[in-house]
Amino acid sequence: MLVNAYGAYAGDRPLESLQISRREPGVHDVQIDIAYCGVCHSDLHQVRSEWAGTQFPCVPGHEIVGRVSAIGAQVKNFTIGDLVGVGCMVDSCQRCADCEAGFENYCDGMVGTYNSPTKDEPGWTLGGYSQRIVVHERFALRIRHHASQLAAVAPLLCAGITTYSPLRHWGAGPGKKVGVVGIGGLGHMGIKLAHAMGAHVVAFTTSDSKREAALALGADEVVVSRSAEEMAVHAQSFDLILNTVAAPHDLDAFLVLLKRDGTMVLVGAPATPHPSPNVFNLIMRRRSIAGSMIGGIPETQEMLDFCAEHGIVADIEMIRADEINEAYERMLRGDVKYRFVIDTATLGA
Ligand code: NAP
Ligand code: ZN
Repeated sequence: MLVNAYGAYAGDRPLESLQISRREPGVHDVQIDIAYCGVCHSDLHQVRSEWAGTQFPCVPGHEIVGRVSAIGAQVKNFTIGDLVGVGCMVDSCQRCADCEAGFENYCDGMVGTYNSPTKDEPGWTLGGYSQRIVVHERFALRIRHHASQLAAVAPLLCAGITTYSPLRHWGAGPGKKVGVVGIGGLGHMGIKLAHAMGAHVVAFTTSDSKREAALALGADEVVVSRSAEEMAVHAQSFDLILNTVAAPHDLDAFLVLLKRDGTMVLVGAPATPHPSPNVFNLIMRRRSIAGSMIGGIPETQEMLDFCAEHGIVADIEMIRADEINEAYERMLRGDVKYRFVIDTATLGA
């Protein structure tokens, strides 16, 4: 079936309206009529060929929410009309040790929601800036928020899980001091989630104008990272720092804020590498630098349920599909509080 979508034909061309083909649902598939799709910085990295290997046409979007509109004969967990989400994956090998452990995100056969090889037309996956998507039911998530919150739930499918997973893995909670670097789509969710987990949360921003807003999101303290004096106050004090910055920057400035055995987790994925950190900043207090990529399906469901229980959604600005190119420019300027979400009713309108 053909559906309306928004995508680009080359890395140096703007996104435009186009039509794409979706498969008929197979026996284990759910077909989802997409209501909203969040706009992740990864979408921009991929569609502009900042990351290697982009296939064109490229339809980004992996913060997908909508309703099930058809199911395959052997679908067990969903029925027509259910509110569901799809995040950054639409398939995996479903057999390896990682998949069995619920870490489909680390499976070698993980199929990304866009730009991954697939048997479907045109040979690579096409994402959520589109009216409809068809996925194996294992990769559909149940949404327990009220339907009126649906648009603001969309960013949880990437920004939410990408911050929730490392916060849980590295033990954010009462008695822990957690830093969140960069108050964008990921960072603002990191602040909300770490606060809800009971940690003492310090937000780091390059934007003086985000000070008040960071406190409103749940930060206990805010540091403007350009200020050496403000940074120095927090030397050797953090258990965990979650770094969401989308551009190369000086990691040492944050490493020295970790206490003994502290960890800085990098989730930001800049197109060019960070300058190498000074190894002495790791050696001196047995500090670690780690990385983390989204989260597995069980953990994504756990995150959605945690957010529903705690009344957590993203702070969003809704846009029409034809505003996406301007939205990318604004995202690059840090001019969004804090996630753009496309209303897919405007696709092809
Ligand atoms: P975003 O909304 O653009 O937020 C990034 C934030 O980083 C900005 O709001 C800004 O915050 C800060 N920043 C940007 N440029 C900076 C610079 N040159 N120096 C210092 N700070 C800067 O992006 P996002 O959607 O949150 O994504 C962030 C990164 O995570 C992207 O690289 C994305 O591809 C990656 N990502 C990774 C995963 C994963 O699984 N690991 C998943 C999703 C996204 P302030 O104004 O507060 O400084
Ligand atoms: Zn994303």
